[in-house]
Amino acid sequence: MSEIFHPPSGFVWPEGTRFAASLTFDVDAESGALAFDSTFHRRMSLMTHQSYGPTVAVPKLLAMLEHHGIPATFFVPGYTADLYPDMVKQIADAGHEIAHHGWMHEKTTSLTDEQEAEMLDRGLESLDRVGVRPVGYRAPWWEYNYRTTDLLLDRGFAYDSSLLDGDVPYRFTSGEGADRDLVEIPVDWALDDWEQFAFYPEWTGSGLIESPRKALQMWSDEASVAAAAGNCFVLTNHPFISGRPTRLSALSQLVDHLESLDGVWFATLQQIAEHSANTLSDIKIHRRIPDPGAQPGQSGDGHPLGHLHDNL
Ligand SMILES: [Zn+2]
Repeated sequence: MSEIFHPPSGFVWPEGTRFAASLTFDVDAESGALAFDSTFHRRMSLMTHQSYGPTVAVPKLLAMLEHHGIPATFFVPGYTADLYPDMVKQIADAGHEIAHHGWMHEKTTSLTDEQEAEMLDRGLESLDRVGVRPVGYRAPWWEYNYRTTDLLLDRGFAYDSSLLDGDVPYRFTSGEGADRDLVEIPVDWALDDWEQFAFYPEWTGSGLIESPRKALQMWSDEASVAAAAGNCFVLTNHPFISGRPTRLSALSQLVDHLESLDGVWFATLQQIAEHSANTLSDIKIHRRIPDPGAQPGQSGDGHPLGHLHDNL
C-alpha cells in the first residue's frame, strides 16, 4: 500500500499503538423494518429475516469475537432490548459495550424536538431494564440532528458515532459559548454492511447482493490505509446481515488482516471516546448551512433523487 497517498492523521493513539479498529454491530432486528412501515409486523417472512439477527447471528458473532479476543460495541434499539433482554445480557456478560440506537429505530429527521427527546428517554429506559446505562449513541440511519448534541449532553452521553466528517475522532459542541462537549467517532457508508448486502423485497436494497469476498477486499484496503495513516477504522455491521455464514467468515478474515497490521488497537467506541476526551483539546463547532432556498430545476420537496431518498 506504500504507493497510496495516506498523509498521517496526527492523532495520538495510546502508547504502543498506531491506529484504532472498532467493530460495531447495530442490532436493529425488527425495529429497522417496523420504523419504515409498522404494518410490516404482519409479514412473517420479513420478521424472521430480522429476528435472525438476535436469535441466530449474535451468538455466532460473540463466538467469533471471543475467538479473536477482541471487544466490540453493540448499538441496541430499545425495542430490540425489550424483545430480547437475554441477548443483551449475553452481549454485556461477554464484556462488550452496549450503546443507544433509538427506541424503534426512528426516522429522526421527521421528529419534533420533543419526540426526539422522548425517543432517547424511552431507549434509555429499555436499556436500564437490562442493567445498561450507555455512554454512546448512534442515530438510527446515522441521521443526527443539529439539536441532538444538547439532548445527548443533557442525558450524560459521552460520545456519538453518526457523523461523517472525519478520519479520526474529534470533540465537538452544539454552538458558540457552550461549556460542554461530546466526542464524535465518525463513520462512513463505505464501511457499512448494509450497502453491500442488504436486500428485502418492497423494503430495502436494489436486489444486488455483493460477494463477501468483494466486501472483504474493500474493507481490508480501508484497514490498511487506516493503519498507514494512523486513522480510526470503524466498521458498522448488522447481525441480521453479517451474521449469515459466508459473511461471518469474511468478517473473521478481516479481523485476521487487522491483526496483521502493525500497531492495531482493537477497542470499543467507549474506550476510543475516553482516550479522545483525555487527549484532544480542540473543540469543533459544526457550521450551520443556511437555507439556500429552492434552486432552479428543483421541485416538490427539493430532492432531485427523491425516490432514492425514500428507500433509505
Ligand atoms: Zn440501525
